[in-house]
Amino acid sequence: MRSDALFIGVEVDDEVARDRELAAKLAEVCPVDIYAVGDDGTLRIAEENLDECVLCRLCMDAAPAGTVRVLKLYDQGAVLA
Ligand code: SF4
Repeated sequence: MRSDALFIGVEVDDEVARDRELAAKLAEVCPVDIYAVGDDGTLRIAEENLDECVLCRLCMDAAPAGTVRVLKLYDQGAVLA
């Protein structure tokens, strides 16, 4: 799944987004509530919070390597590494 705001975009592999445990973990670690868990337990991305991203990388560390990508749209879509 992917969601874009003005400055930040987030892309999460579908297997991760569907995994209830990982979805809950992402919702827990993000300090600005970009991730949430839907009624069915799968991941939701709160588009209205995306531009609050502080580039802390906690979401990337919470999921298997490369499955969560933070895109710096203000920097030609560069992937936060
Ligand atoms: S980098 Fe930090 S602030 Fe940005 S989406 Fe990931 S956990 Fe949230």
